Amino acid sequence: MMRILRVLFDGFILRCPRCRQGRMFESGFQMYRECPHCGLAFERSSGEITGGMGINTVATLLIVLFSGIYIGVTPSVPALPAFIVVVLVAILFPIGFYRSSRGMWASILYLTGDNAEPD
Ligand SMILES: [Zn+2]
Repeated sequence: MMRILRVLFDGFILRCPRCRQGRMFESGFQMYRECPHCGLAFERSSGEITGGMGINTVATLLIVLFSGIYIGVTPSVPALPAFIVVVLVAILFPIGFYRSSRGMWASILYLTGDNAEPD
């Protein structure tokens, strides 16, 4: 269990889950295809980006859902400003979480062994 959490955390902080030394991103939103230190393939094909996008979408929806529930059960929170804040979070959070969600997906691929198999 601790290994799974460690590997997911490594992906979250954009560190290679195998060697824990290589960085996952070379700049901005540009991810290395493989670890510059140990050669682990982070995403073997371009379609695997959808896994990271899925993690990002679920995390964003959970934040919006729980924010909506909190606003709904707390009558002292003014609705319009709260709605505007939730909309801004729903727009900005996925951008800020993009790299970590792709890193976490690469960690999941590492845990399941999908990125270690040859083509
Ligand atoms: Zn590595």
